[in-house]
Amino acid sequence: FDQDQRRQLALTHGLSAALESDDQLYLLYQPKIDLHSGKMVGVEALMRWKHPVYGEVPPMDFIPLISQTTLINPLTCWVIREAARVIQQFEAAGRPTVVSVNVTTTNLIDEAFYDDLLAILQAQQIEASLLEVECLEMEELLKDPRALNTLTKLRALGVRVALDDFGSGYSNLNYLRRIPADVIKLDRALISDIATDAGSRAIVFRLIQMLNHFGFEIVAEGIEDQPTVDLLKRYNCHTGQGYFFYRPLKLADAIEISQRSAAS
Ligand code: C2E
Ligand code: MG
Ligand code: MG
Repeated sequence: FDQDQRRQLALTHGLSAALESDDQLYLLYQPKIDLHSGKMVGVEALMRWKHPVYGEVPPMDFIPLISQTTLINPLTCWVIREAARVIQQFEAAGRPTVVSVNVTTTNLIDEAFYDDLLAILQAQQIEASLLEVECLEMEELLKDPRALNTLTKLRALGVRVALDDFGSGYSNLNYLRRIPADVIKLDRALISDIATDAGSRAIVFRLIQMLNHFGFEIVAEGIEDQPTVDLLKRYNCHTGQGYFFYRPLKLADAIEISQRSAAS
């Protein structure tokens, strides 16, 4: 075993303890901004792990290790319970805000997932439309009737469904016609050089046009500068998220920004 493998093993095995410990896992919240009004319209919950030995571990170091195992199910439930609490806090602050959580195909295939989510919403009396699930691997999803069925049920309940990281890999655009989603999140890889590259500008322009034609809400991820914002606005992209606006924040800061954004 080399160092990396040992760390991976320790992270995989440490996750159950982390879930029970109460002071290792936490969430940060990255604001989503309406590109036309400039107002904050939602937040994405992003997981962080303060590991007793390894310190701050980024999600890409442990989520992929477990995303296709059953370990992901209690983890996602924990995130949804936190998200429900956060929805209540935004409402208490006078700013009802959509909170997005990341889910994996394994979650959507799990038979208990829908019932667990519904129980959380009901117990905390949460309006379903204030919760959004961001899912990856849409092509995989479309092949699995169980996952598709869960998405369809979630949407019937009023939960918003977003397709994350759109355009990050090979995408067969034909499947867009069948996607049970409300929101498409354009990956940072797709939009990062539209300000400097005419080719990617042409692709993003046409893509947004097409997604608008299908009636999706379009969110651009990973926006880092003003020229990119200006172009996306001109192309009729609705929402933006990225370091240019805000990095992932502590909840109190996200709530304060939301209140300031509403007042301005
Ligand atoms: P994602 O869902 O696509 O989240 C966006 C990622 O891009 C976040 O990284 C965010 O911090 C980063 N980001 C935001 N704006 C910018 C920008 O302007 N420039 C750049 N370079 N990056 C930006 P993070 O927090 O490290 O999360 C990485 C991935 O880990 C997420 O990608 C998501 O797939 C996964 N993840 C995070 N939290 C969870 C979770 O609770 N559950 C699951 N299943 N996956 C999660
Ligand atoms: Mg996401
Ligand atoms: Mg993404």
